Amino acid sequence: MTDRWYRELRQRFRELGADLRPHALELDRDPEAIRAHFDLPAVRYLAAMGVPAEYGHDPEPIAGRPCHGARARERVVIMEELAAADAGMLVAAPGPLLAGVLVGLVADERQRELFYGRMLQRPLWTFFALTEPDRGSDAAGLTTSLRPADDGGYLLTGAKRYVGNACRAQLGVVFARTGPGPLGIVPVLLETPAEGFTAEPLPSIGLRGARISAIELDEVRVPAENVLGRHLSPTRRGMWAFVQTFNLLRPGVAAIGVGMARAAHEYVLAHRRAPSKDERRRIDALGRRIDGARALTERAAEAVDARTSDGHLASAAKLRAGNLAEEAALLACEFFGPAARLEHPLLDKLVRDAKSLEFIEGTTQVQQLNLAQGLVSGKVDGTRRSA
Ligand SMILES: Cc1cc2nc3c(=O)[nH]c(=O)nc-3n(C[C@H](O)[C@H](O)[C@H](O)COP(=O)(O)OP(=O)(O)OC[C@H]3O[C@@H](n4cnc5c(N)ncnc54)[C@H](O)[C@@H]3O)c2cc1C
Repeated sequence: MTDRWYRELRQRFRELGADLRPHALELDRDPEAIRAHFDLPAVRYLAAMGVPAEYGHDPEPIAGRPCHGARARERVVIMEELAAADAGMLVAAPGPLLAGVLVGLVADERQRELFYGRMLQRPLWTFFALTEPDRGSDAAGLTTSLRPADDGGYLLTGAKRYVGNACRAQLGVVFARTGPGPLGIVPVLLETPAEGFTAEPLPSIGLRGARISAIELDEVRVPAENVLGRHLSPTRRGMWAFVQTFNLLRPGVAAIGVGMARAAHEYVLAHRRAPSKDERRRIDALGRRIDGARALTERAAEAVDARTSDGHLASAAKLRAGNLAEEAALLACEFFGPAARLEHPLLDKLVRDAKSLEFIEGTTQVQQLNLAQGLVSGKVDGTRRSA
């Protein structure tokens, strides 16, 4: 794809994002309000984003080419633009997202048809359940168990936490353990409602559209054919699969950070009348930092599109953009006096939403560790590849 095509993609999603902003505060008050907005073109697009063409996904062409949203480089443009409009609406929208990327990596043909086919029938939420109450960042230590049942299938038992959209999803992926160690982890496809499955929304102050949920799994039946990656070697389905999925999606999370920082910057530009010279300098400096974070995010997306295991730049981008989103939202408040968060509800919401970027797809410290590992091993500056 050419730079011109990406510019057109950006322009198109900027237009679509304009429909999201008016619902931002409504959704913040009631995350279920998204149900009334399934017909917005941006929400319709997200409902099938990432479904490959061969499963019947036929999105509107952008400058003569359809954009399936299956590449990280496409997603960073789309997610920045929609997050700049409202990140809450973006994460509240139904669609395949993380689960869809994992299905693309490890599902067999029947599972792909089941998953992607259902995405195209009507908007439905999916979930990706990895995090556990006592094993957040230490995902490899998960304890949810998958054990054989008498009927040839499996029984799933355990608990998951902070899983986006799980309380309203109809289809999801759950990571569980069939044996010890990293090779004992397997993802399964779960259709809900299911006996033994409960998911309750958790109270949250930021990014409330994500509807993060607590899941309880009490001997939930999983047919053998819903175990993902059965046809692959154990090294290619459990931990490998979620690391690659995160690598592919993390530039998109960074792009959400860029979009949120932009929302704060644009808010100041639109509402701070007659800024002083010093204020002007601070506003311009923020704009330049946003441009820098965007450039890094685009590089990170290109790196994972070229090779899914090259996720170190994605960690750098998520770190940079996540921190910037928080700083930008707080900085924006400074332009509107001590009562800024009371008098400017959109800024208040931005401050709360931006904080969630500390946690989504790996905490700040864990990204730092990942990046440091990449630097030490020469994977970040390209020395490994040119060696
Ligand atoms: C809006 C939102 C949406 C989410 N969506 C999903 C989802 O869809 N599916 C899902 O499975 N999960 C989801 N999560 C969970 C998210 O991935 C976890 O919050 C994250 O993995 C961190 O886990 P934790 O919150 O238990 O924190 P912990 O892992 O307990 O971390 C607590 C603190 O300790 C630090 N820390 C942890 N380990 C180390 C270490 N080795 N070295 C140094 N410091 C360390 C962390 O950086 C952090 O500051 C979501 C979270 C949020 C906020």
